[in-house]
Amino acid sequence: MTALGSAKTVKTTCPYCGVGCGVLATPRADGTVAIAGDPDHPANFGRLCSKGSALGETLSLEGRLLHPEIGNRRSSWGEVLDLVAARFREAIEQYGPDSVAIYGSGQLLTEDYYVANKLMKGFVGSANIDTNSRLCMASSVAGHKRAFGSDTVPGNYEDLELADLVVLVGSNLAWCHPVLYQRLAAAKAERPDMRVVLIDPRRSSTADIADLHLPLRSDGDSALFVGLLGHLARYGQVDANFVAQHTSGAEAALLLAEDWPLDRVAEATGAAAADIATFYDWFAKTERTVTVYSQGVNQSASGTDKVNAIINCHLLTGRIGRKGMGPFSVTGQPNAMGGREVGGLANMLAAHMDFTPEAIDRVGRFWQAPNVATKPGLKAVDLFSAMARGDIKAVWIMATNPVDSMPDADAVRAAFEACPFVVVSDMNAKTDTGHHAHVRLPAAGWGEKEGSVTNSERRISRQRPFLALPGKARPDWWIISEVARRLGHSAAFPYRTPGDIFAEHVALSSFENDGTRDFDLAGLSGADYAAIQPTQWPVRTKPSARMFGDGRFFTPDQKARFVPVVPPPPIRPAPGSFVLNTGRVRDHWHTMTRTGKAARLSAHYAEPFLEIHPADAERLNIRRATLVRVSNARASVTLRAVVTDRQPQGQVFAPMHWTDQFASNGRIDSLVAAKTDPVSGQPALKMARVHVEPAGTRLFGFFVATQSPALTSDYWAIAPVNGGTRGELAWFNEPEDWIAWLKENFHLPANASIKTFNDDRAGRRNFAVLEDGRLILALYTSPDPVIVSRQWATTLLTKTNLSASVVLAGRPGADTPDPGATVCSCFSVGINTITAAIAKDGCDTVEAIGHCTKAGTNCGSCRPEIRRILASAMASLSQTRS
Ligand code: SF4
Repeated sequence: MTALGSAKTVKTTCPYCGVGCGVLATPRADGTVAIAGDPDHPANFGRLCSKGSALGETLSLEGRLLHPEIGNRRSSWGEVLDLVAARFREAIEQYGPDSVAIYGSGQLLTEDYYVANKLMKGFVGSANIDTNSRLCMASSVAGHKRAFGSDTVPGNYEDLELADLVVLVGSNLAWCHPVLYQRLAAAKAERPDMRVVLIDPRRSSTADIADLHLPLRSDGDSALFVGLLGHLARYGQVDANFVAQHTSGAEAALLLAEDWPLDRVAEATGAAAADIATFYDWFAKTERTVTVYSQGVNQSASGTDKVNAIINCHLLTGRIGRKGMGPFSVTGQPNAMGGREVGGLANMLAAHMDFTPEAIDRVGRFWQAPNVATKPGLKAVDLFSAMARGDIKAVWIMATNPVDSMPDADAVRAAFEACPFVVVSDMNAKTDTGHHAHVRLPAAGWGEKEGSVTNSERRISRQRPFLALPGKARPDWWIISEVARRLGHSAAFPYRTPGDIFAEHVALSSFENDGTRDFDLAGLSGADYAAIQPTQWPVRTKPSARMFGDGRFFTPDQKARFVPVVPPPPIRPAPGSFVLNTGRVRDHWHTMTRTGKAARLSAHYAEPFLEIHPADAERLNIRRATLVRVSNARASVTLRAVVTDRQPQGQVFAPMHWTDQFASNGRIDSLVAAKTDPVSGQPALKMARVHVEPAGTRLFGFFVATQSPALTSDYWAIAPVNGGTRGELAWFNEPEDWIAWLKENFHLPANASIKTFNDDRAGRRNFAVLEDGRLILALYTSPDPVIVSRQWATTLLTKTNLSASVVLAGRPGADTPDPGATVCSCFSVGINTITAAIAKDGCDTVEAIGHCTKAGTNCGSCRPEIRRILASAMASLSQTRS
């Protein structure tokens, strides 16, 4: 990578989650980039989480796609753009505009999104443009529109700090929106009266700051909030004035809610009646209440109803649009909101306008487009089904990896095989989706591209470049515009810079608006694009622009709508099967195309895993750290068993991140049915039915190596470490010839000297290959999960003057303490170091541990885990003493 111009600090925005933190990036003379939180950015005020802090470690050009490719041959931009345009034109002419599609991403910048949406909906004449944001927050969009008449997030992040009660529903804020969690945790520490309620089947890391945790059955949320609505009405907690003047439909919603008394809610949700009563009591009595919800609400076949069940409670109490209160959807992707703003979902037209005759006419006149799509296009799940049927003749995938992230992922993979022409724009040369592409287009990445993003509180921030475009990589807006020109639309796509596009986006938002639409950037009209500061819409002079404070909504009568909600039956565990919940881990992002490059982000979890309750594990004879097979009629995956009582019985949890690039068989969404919410089209990614059983592996292995091998073991998972790669392995049958296996898998030279240690009685074999005192490869195998310290073993790759005997021994010498599994990624502090600080140094607070070990003193993302380790260590210490 090459710095852009002279090295200076550039203000930009983090490319990961919807918190949208400001980042200061400073290219250094040695080619690396220093990353720090921007103290002036109103989303994070200088904070960054582990992922944001490690951004500088994800910028290498290793694995980048640097040239356009047709098939497996390198091409020129001229040739490849001509081909893409020709194949799209051919399909449109022969089969009509709905035979082509674009599938985009919340990683696209607003300017990229705008141009893609304009091309499809304005000039191709089809609304077949959808995005991975469909998987993330489509139900929130639909719920907002039903209640408010517009897709509007009413509140600000500051409201979480000002509230007296924060209710977190289906949100592991600590891991998925860490800086927002840190802001909330800091506010709670300052105001001990503040309460936090966590509503989640799992006792996630966010439970660390919760005063009350309600472990509901999957999909129990609607019953809980419908019951709450009835409770609020029964106990007179109704803002009658607000309801009368600013809402409609309360009677119908309340009529349904009457049928949900406390005991019925408890029976349906599985939560204790006393805990539900406490929650209801707190909610009823606390004026300043914010309800934060995320994927646990949205990723459901009844997600839109859940959103409205929550909003109903805020409407009934009039708690919306004021300080410290309101329903608050936090988005997963960095620019899911920007995508919504341009209309990048198949059921939106543009600039928060729908497919009404007036809007179609208005947008058509604005774009001077004669061929504006007149009806919604295919939503993500329907889009890939249409591909599988052969209805889509050409598809263009941008900045996303649907072969891994879509439900029924194997069927989606098959759909790509069925599609006659697949274009993939990506930064990376190898992704599971790119593997199926006829054409691969090298897209510019974070730090190279320029544009804007909108975070979960409607704040538009600039992403600014600080690195030169590598190879032939180009920004997405440029690529799309070039194809549009080749399709004959030069006049409509004249853009020379992303600033040109942003100006048009601003103009469309305010075109014939006059306050009739929520999304209006008129205040940014004529702004100096280069200098735009983080700006919340609606663009006003006041720094805190909450929506709906005046009680006026974007419905025809300006009243908010109550939506009557009938709770679906919550998903109960069935005999012999589990409910599979899926989600994120702290240090990885989506399909790991960026975070999978950073050694320290891969240290926290280095392989795909399944969390299972101890009682379930015992019943199924699943031992800790062994491998399990998780299967159903759709697929079967192999994961490491993590036995933990943080997971409820009858349910299991697995992360969404692992792909075929990092593990032999860990694509978790291959198990998930393509069942969707009927209103939003968002898939239910968190509640698949699966069977779990021991995988039956005979032999386990662990290696560290200077190279990234091509592995043939029955199970493998690899992760980067400083100086090379680490990996977990397993076999159903031991290889007959170990030396041949090592040479084949690690491409060792024929004359490589392989040192071995065999413990025939225990069935363990260790192997080491060194060159001039430096380690090339160490492999440890055992019939049980290998107990070699991963932390210690990975340090061997950077050591000199090593001897084979030290490597083969498989454990640190007495003078080298084993730090244990990584807890703090920023300072590589392991669990053993933390427990030693507690037991030996008497550290009895998270702060004291930080002082002693540095753990948790940078980004703070690991502080919930440190607190948990502390609590458990203190409990065993006090047991020992008594
Ligand atoms: S919370 Fe972390 S991942 Fe999210 S925007 Fe901030 S630094 Fe990035």
